[in-house]
Amino acid sequence: MNETLFIAYFVIWFALAIGNFLLFRGKDPAFRKRWHRPVAVVNSLIIGGMIVLMVALMGDWRATAIFAAAALFFVWLAAFRTRVCPGCGKFAQPRNLITPEKFCSKCGTALE
Ligand SMILES: [Zn+2]
Repeated sequence: MNETLFIAYFVIWFALAIGNFLLFRGKDPAFRKRWHRPVAVVNSLIIGGMIVLMVALMGDWRATAIFAAAALFFVWLAAFRTRVCPGCGKFAQPRNLITPEKFCSKCGTALE
């Protein structure tokens, strides 16, 4: 394991977490809905890319391919399966990882 890369991964992950928190904090549901998808794609591409890069540097191409596929799955999951509640702005991740939630678990508004 390349330690510098490992530390860089956590620094970037932490920066993204804080950036997202500040970006969406106190914003109205329309803003959250508008920006959720592009932000989620960028986030998961960066995090997924870092993980795939770390595995690739270990030199195992089979593991790299599996991690790359998993990373793409999480990009798709974060961007297209997660709904934003129009009522309260809560992010609703699909509980079974495939089917988007139909109702907000916080306020009960129907999700589209
Ligand atoms: Zn809600």
